[in-house]
Amino acid sequence: MKKAIPIMVKSNADWRRELSPLAYHVTREHGTERPFTDDTPPPGAGTYVCVCCGEPLFAADDWFEAGCGWPSFTQPADGETTGAGAVGQSNDLRFGMRRTEVHCKRCDAHLGHVFEDGPPPSHLRYCINSVALRFDPA
Ligand SMILES: [Zn+2]
Repeated sequence: MKKAIPIMVKSNADWRRELSPLAYHVTREHGTERPFTDDTPPPGAGTYVCVCCGEPLFAADDWFEAGCGWPSFTQPADGETTGAGAVGQSNDLRFGMRRTEVHCKRCDAHLGHVFEDGPPPSHLRYCINSVALRFDPA
């Protein structure tokens, strides 16, 4: 049985107090950081957690060099690529594009988008804003 993800709800005022202005803009206002803000490889083994609530989202092992300027992963840490796990999905039709938005299921933080041009075997590229993540060394 899948573990249910406990939902965390905070006011925008709380988030604004706890997050950097850029992290607030990206995660709570559906923003996008500039490319190459931080697309450096993982510093070692570990897990990328949600900058807002600490939920484990992506594993360092699934990071890959996409060259797009944002941290990129082949799958969420829990392996759920359908949006059923810790990384949820929604349709994003803004800017005249049809994209799949990804967010933290626990606190609803916007993370980035998932595209179907990644490397095998998943062929997925989770293109994530670096400020939405915090690295937890193993
Ligand atoms: Zn979160």
